Amino acid sequence: MALHRSAKGTTEVKAGTGVWRDAPTPWDDLFAEPSSDGVLSRGRMPERITDPRAVFEMVRAELQLDGNASQNLATFCTTWSEDEVRRLMDDCVAKNMIDKDEYPQTAEIEARCVRILADLWNSPAEATTIGCSTTGSSEAAMLGGLAMKWRWRQRREREGKPADRPNLVCGPIQVCWEKFARYFDVELRKVPLEKDATGLRPHQLADHVDENTIGVVAILGVTFTCDYEPVAEISAELDRIQDATGLDVPVHVDAASGGFVAPFLHPGLEWDFRVGRVVSINASGHKYGLAPLGVGWVVWRDAEHLPDDLVFSVDYLGGSMPTFALNFSRPGGEVVAQYYLFQRLGREGYRRVQEACAATARWLGEQISALGPFDLLYDGRGALPAVSYTLKPDHTGFTLYDLTEQLRVRGWQVPSYPLPADRDDTVVQRVLVRHGIGRDEASLLIEDMKRCLQRLSTGPTGAPTHPSFHH
Ligand SMILES: *Cc1c(COP(=O)(O)O)cnc(C)c1O
Repeated sequence: MALHRSAKGTTEVKAGTGVWRDAPTPWDDLFAEPSSDGVLSRGRMPERITDPRAVFEMVRAELQLDGNASQNLATFCTTWSEDEVRRLMDDCVAKNMIDKDEYPQTAEIEARCVRILADLWNSPAEATTIGCSTTGSSEAAMLGGLAMKWRWRQRREREGKPADRPNLVCGPIQVCWEKFARYFDVELRKVPLEKDATGLRPHQLADHVDENTIGVVAILGVTFTCDYEPVAEISAELDRIQDATGLDVPVHVDAASGGFVAPFLHPGLEWDFRVGRVVSINASGHKYGLAPLGVGWVVWRDAEHLPDDLVFSVDYLGGSMPTFALNFSRPGGEVVAQYYLFQRLGREGYRRVQEACAATARWLGEQISALGPFDLLYDGRGALPAVSYTLKPDHTGFTLYDLTEQLRVRGWQVPSYPLPADRDDTVVQRVLVRHGIGRDEASLLIEDMKRCLQRLSTGPTGAPTHPSFHH
């Protein structure tokens, strides 16, 4: 039923369209004023105008039914921001990223962020490289994939060879690569996950790459396990394949999470443009980049790796500026907030934030391991600030899905899901530690896990649930 007020200001009820009574006065209590007994429309735009205060409170109350973002341990995305970030977002609410001419300073800030990232990821040409902001890693991955597809096709055409059956080789990828493959007509060659592996292993490549391979995607921070795939070793294996077969296969690194973790926590790890075969990198500014939701990045090794005919130009200060994007209009606030965070935290600040998260993740790993029924798949050491684990194979009485449900009673969102095909008989649970999740919150989670395990093993009434468990 819609909520609105009649022009006459008299009480009137019309089924399916609304409830309205006398006009409120500014000093009415919101929950006692006439429009407060209405119900927000579920399917049809209301006919009339309503007091913004009342609608605001009702929409806000409805949103309370959502999970609490800070207890959402399933997401990699930012759930905590400083007031300064909120203020900048507010200032930028009307800035459109595509209007380079109207908002040249926002465009300049985006370009600075690209240079900062190219430098952070050790581009050989950080001042002149090419890259851009996107709505997230998904769009960034598509752009990286398209550039590889274009370059592969150009080479095939130069060589007079058919260019109609491109394929992309990868391990357990995030769904954005499945979308890329389907939307842009590329065969996705998913290399099966080996037993006890947390990602693609280099020795598996030779069976999958061929002359139609546009590239290999290596993931820095596998969604399922949170571990890094070994980019340098994958690259070295492709060197061996090139020596043996002549195939020159580029690597794109999907560093959605790891791109903002590895430079600070694992600076010695060579996964970025230091590895010669890496032609492009994507990362999510809104994950460990700490920016609010809605920003990703893609950077190419150098301008040569982004084919010209993928680039369009938009007006910019009376001239034109190259752009490469799937979207047109897009908010500018997230990019500005990203720049603010780079300036405000600096390398030291990012390192300290990620170190604190990683220390809490390691602590969680130890605690979870000590609980008894779990085998850690990833213990929070060496890759993302997170842990993933399975139930011990001989464990019976409850599943990880039961535990997910029990934890949800206290508001915790800890997902359980099967590993990708070939190992989908293994169910894992994953906890991500992000900026804003402190040790205290983590210790509350552990206390609740203990209570849940207790309840799952004895049942709510204290009666054993196993072996004669039934509802
Ligand atoms: C999150 C994620 C993506 C998708 O990123 P969005 O920023 O959510 O679009 C892609 N790849 C990996 C490895 C991810 O973790």
